[in-house]
Amino acid sequence: MRYFPLFMDIQDEPVLVVGGGAVAERKVVLLRKAGARVQLVAKTLNPALLTAVDGSRVEWIAREFRPAQLDGPRLVFAATDDAELNARVHAEAEARRLPVNVVDDREHCRFITPAIVDRDPVQVAISSAGASPVLARRIRGWIEALLPQGLGKVAAAAGRLRDRAARLPLPERRRAWDRLLDRGQVHALGALPAKDIERRLKKGLDQAARKPLPGKVVLVGAGPGRADLLTLRALQALGQADVILHDRLVSPEILDLARRDADFIDVGKRCGGHATRQESIHELMVEHASQGRQVVRLKGGDPFVFGRGGEELEHLRAHGIDYEVVPGVTAAIGCAAFAGIPLTHRDHAHAVTLITGHTPEGGREPDWQALAGEGRTLAVYMGAQRAAELKGKLLESGLPADLPVALVADGTRDTQTTLHGHLDQLPDLAARAPRGAPALLVIGEVAAVGRQLAWFEGSGQVNDLPVASARAA
Ligand code: SAH
Repeated sequence: MRYFPLFMDIQDEPVLVVGGGAVAERKVVLLRKAGARVQLVAKTLNPALLTAVDGSRVEWIAREFRPAQLDGPRLVFAATDDAELNARVHAEAEARRLPVNVVDDREHCRFITPAIVDRDPVQVAISSAGASPVLARRIRGWIEALLPQGLGKVAAAAGRLRDRAARLPLPERRRAWDRLLDRGQVHALGALPAKDIERRLKKGLDQAARKPLPGKVVLVGAGPGRADLLTLRALQALGQADVILHDRLVSPEILDLARRDADFIDVGKRCGGHATRQESIHELMVEHASQGRQVVRLKGGDPFVFGRGGEELEHLRAHGIDYEVVPGVTAAIGCAAFAGIPLTHRDHAHAVTLITGHTPEGGREPDWQALAGEGRTLAVYMGAQRAAELKGKLLESGLPADLPVALVADGTRDTQTTLHGHLDQLPDLAARAPRGAPALLVIGEVAAVGRQLAWFEGSGQVNDLPVASARAA
């Protein structure tokens, strides 16, 4: 990060502006809005600046720049068309360690001014650290469109109710605000007159004080890894969480989207060696929700597909804890999409089965013969470690050795690797997959379609094994 972002209180503070043209004028307009006392140094002032000069807020202190004018101001702007003069202002200010900005001259700026979206008292400041002012302005346009016009009024009303809200204990206060100020509410409130906004917010706070909201667990599917595959509801829940219990498969870029001051607890279960026992996860959820917290239980993919989400809800239900489930893109759907493998296809498959390759000790083997075969696709989770065994079982149940298969490791992530081959090569595929990366197997005719339709280039390669046995024509 090249620049440190901050907002500065310059109410009633002197700020020196050297220059009297349009560029200086734009700075003066903004400085006046922020309540600064502007001191102008310029040979001449343009008409707008001349009318702005009122002797108190905007003062024309001199025609010539002198270093002594720098004793007093909090900030200095040099906005003349005289490069030599600008450089001199810069040098003198720097010598005094006084923050200086030479407008449109990044090399001579101790501080830079952002593009802003103004919904006073809400200010959104955007900077590209000078890399692309055009881009920063574009971003400003996008954010403008995103924020409701009445946002400032709502923020101001919330500000006037701070003392009232302070009567609520902290976690409840935050929760009440979270609920009162969610996106839909802010849009609706923003359209009302200021005093109605305040009345409604006050009512909401009083209700929260009378009847505190109980804690809740939101079981959230984080999808296969890419942050932009999260649902909007997942994003919202992450933004409101007090505690986040997350799996190992959830990527850091997704955790980055969660509320910064939430407690993050890694309950990372590893396939095989369980880092946190399932029972401890159950206990953690109940413990935090009972204390009135919003708990997000964040799982890779979808919580109800090989995610033990069902067991977790049963436990919550038994303990009378409220819950909600937010679906996520499950690995099979995500990997298939990003490997260009349509799981069903009019010419190749009319059914798809999501199945785990990891059967519990002493668990019953699935009926492979019923699940796999002509016109059917198998998407196997946790199957790579058992590839040899899986191959044996599938061949036994009558599948051809040259049936197309694909292995997608780190699916949807930038590190995605796709390996193509045939059923009898399944163990080779698994052996060539990047170590430690989650991998999904797709078994069936459709796997071969991915060779043509692949569109996503992960850093891992798309890899074809030589065809070991020709397909019987
Ligand atoms: N609930 C998850 C599945 C958890 S089981 C879901 O709906 O996706 C963990 C298995 O999911 C892994 O062993 C792997 O087979 C698969 N998996 C999860 N993320 C994956 C990814 N990004 N790429 C490939 N496979 C993935």
